[in-house]
Amino acid sequence: MDGMAATLITRWFDGRSPRPQAVTLRIDGGELLLRTQDGAVEHRYPLARVRWPERRTHGQRQTELPDGSLIQHADAAEWDAWWRAQGHREGVVVGWMQSWRATLVAMAGTVAFLAAAWVWGVPWLSSTLAHLVPPSLEERIGEASMSQLQSIFLTPSELPQRQQDALRQRFAAVVKASHPEGDAPPWNLAFHKSEILGANAFALPGGAIVMTDDLVKMLEDRPDALVGVLAHELGHVQHRHGLDMLVRSSLVSALIGVVLGDASSFLATVPATLVTQSYSRDAEREADAHAAEMLHAGGIAPAEMVVFFERIQAEERQCDADADADADHDAAEEGGDVLPISIASHPDHAERIRFFREWKSVAGS
Ligand SMILES: [Zn+2]
Repeated sequence: MDGMAATLITRWFDGRSPRPQAVTLRIDGGELLLRTQDGAVEHRYPLARVRWPERRTHGQRQTELPDGSLIQHADAAEWDAWWRAQGHREGVVVGWMQSWRATLVAMAGTVAFLAAAWVWGVPWLSSTLAHLVPPSLEERIGEASMSQLQSIFLTPSELPQRQQDALRQRFAAVVKASHPEGDAPPWNLAFHKSEILGANAFALPGGAIVMTDDLVKMLEDRPDALVGVLAHELGHVQHRHGLDMLVRSSLVSALIGVVLGDASSFLATVPATLVTQSYSRDAEREADAHAAEMLHAGGIAPAEMVVFFERIQAEERQCDADADADADHDAAEEGGDVLPISIASHPDHAERIRFFREWKSVAGS
């Protein structure tokens, strides 16, 4: 068999459009030659820079090209036959976690549907995608985000261990009371010191919640307000706001990467997104509503949250005054600006104070 001449007709995602194009592949010397069927587009890639699929997986074969585009071939047997015809026996690239692949391949049927949904609106699509992300990947996104944020913003907490434990238990009791069916999302609370973030808290995909020492100190006499802040953050986790935001801001790589197979290009966008994007107003309202319901169910008046906003506001005013007196103003004021998903950066204190003060249970109790 003349390996040099063997061509394969397959599907190619160019990295910009969510729609695949029919292309032919041929190995030509040291290069992979890719041509659209109308001949309008032709690319040559050095073989060494192509990320060939791992052969032992079942289902589709997927190949990443150096320019970020992607080949996806549904018929594994046909791909392998073509590959053997080139005289290649080894050289498969292993870089895959099998369990993921199985999950993702199982989702492949959803892809056509999702691509069609493209035109119906990015918010809908990204939130749908966010809810399709398997928990294992969500966890990995959370870990990647956490290690990134930790290296930039966080140092170990200086709070006494028993104070940390007491707050954790207080929050756990409210989670339990408000989710009697045990349907709360998984969460994991960590305290950290942070010069840059000041009095603050945030949550990441996968359920990691961080609260700063400064915030604990600011509300030391009002632990129920701290529980309210944690409940707000758990609301973001429950509604997958973080994942939704990440997917929305890099929709193409999320669609091509996460759903079709390889999440690495999507993961690469996570750090930059985290420090530049904020949640929508609707997401914040949803998290506040979640916090109010949780507090109420846990036997705490939602109005307890008001003191949090009042003290954050007082701190901001203090910082403004310092800034006037001294051009080199305090980092705490910038906390919101450097990490827009954190609670100190959320706008509209007045509206939120009103929300918690006037909140009534929808059950009318
Ligand atoms: Zn929030």
